[in-house]
Amino acid sequence: MGEISWTRARRAANALMLTAAVSALAGPAGAAERAKNVILFIGDGMGVATLTAARIYEAQQRGADGASNRLSFEAFPQLGLVRTYSADSLVTDSAAGASAILTGHRTLNGALGVDDKVRRGDCASVAPSTVPTLAELARKKGLATGVVSTAAITDATPASLYAHTPSRQWQSDADLPPEAVAAGCKDIARQMLDGPKALQLDVMLGGGEAAFTPTERDGKRLDGRDLTAEWRAGGGAFVKTGSELASVRKDTKRLLGLFAPGNMMRENPRAVTQTDAPRLTEMTVKAIEVLSQSKQGYFLMVEGALIDKAHHMSLAQEALNETVELAKAVAAAQAMTDPKDTLIIVTADHSHGLTINGGARDTSILGLLPGNEDDPARALDGKAIPILMYASGPGAPPVGELRPDPADLDTADPDLRSFAATPLNSAAHTGEDIATYATGPGSQGIHGLMDHPAVFEVMRKALALP
Ligand SMILES: [Zn+2]
Repeated sequence: MGEISWTRARRAANALMLTAAVSALAGPAGAAERAKNVILFIGDGMGVATLTAARIYEAQQRGADGASNRLSFEAFPQLGLVRTYSADSLVTDSAAGASAILTGHRTLNGALGVDDKVRRGDCASVAPSTVPTLAELARKKGLATGVVSTAAITDATPASLYAHTPSRQWQSDADLPPEAVAAGCKDIARQMLDGPKALQLDVMLGGGEAAFTPTERDGKRLDGRDLTAEWRAGGGAFVKTGSELASVRKDTKRLLGLFAPGNMMRENPRAVTQTDAPRLTEMTVKAIEVLSQSKQGYFLMVEGALIDKAHHMSLAQEALNETVELAKAVAAAQAMTDPKDTLIIVTADHSHGLTINGGARDTSILGLLPGNEDDPARALDGKAIPILMYASGPGAPPVGELRPDPADLDTADPDLRSFAATPLNSAAHTGEDIATYATGPGSQGIHGLMDHPAVFEVMRKALALP
């Protein structure tokens, strides 16, 4: 291409980019795009390959064809791809990712409820960089608000609804460095219950009790406070088991459920332990029941947190189980709500390095490449090729050792770590775009190539928040 035509092409490309940027700035929502309620589902680490593998896995579990299957939300009418980068990184972590979705501002990896002017670990920089979260805006307008997560409720994604902090690690006062304590910094658990009652969430269900209770009661808190007792004293209901959750009174308005000291249990260990902790779907249903009493509507965020936790450990089958559970929770939410007044969005904060290597139509997604004339069943090292594997993680062979032959392993064992190419104690998040699905009033805003802050804008406009 000559120099002149190159310049012209670049000018045309710039003009196209400008048009796209302008059309992305949609006007105010019309009546048809107004939602009474918004339910946001975040599959933590739920990249596109995870979704594809999970839909195949879900159907194969029932003896059906996997490739042509859809998870519940994959039938939603609206779909967009979302760029996930954070203020300082090509690849976001859950804190910056969730903050961008819940505040409309990108921030540094590890920070919550603040914009990009925050300084890492610096308490003094929080006040000038604090931005309101969607939950706080909704609460101010009189909506009920809630959060459900299979992680500790003080973990990064759920904390993005109520915490403003330069470090996601500061979950209890025991996690605060001395300088932060001296500077008057509040830990995340305390921020949830210490702020003005008018801004507090009405429903919080998940794990993480230890950050709320003092060391004398097997908790982590050093300040002697029992935040669960303070919640009860303020008139809220508090439950610790699935049975207690099931028998919560119908007219309960404020509900805190903490079902594990830290993160909740994944599906596989749960099956052997017979824990009396609710599943993601049961927590979602209860949260909607409680929040639906609000005449002004509600905002609920539901996080499938253990997808990410399983991926970090190279436990592919577990990640798929958790993705299927998220799809069930979405289906339950859809069944309980009116599509005319409830916007449901399903998104992810970032992806993980899961790869689908191939396979015949009827090969188990957990299995090995069967091989055919074009693609051999054995790799150059003479060993079988797993269908699912990771770019990085603890599933890599010990440093200096060769990979085991997956043909010698029980690939259906949910505790088997899937092969990873790069050895890491915990798999790295990956930076490709993630998919976002939407249905209900205002869902038309989810389309094309988007950004996390644009997903925030879609929810803010649908609820007509300032
Ligand atoms: Zn993660």
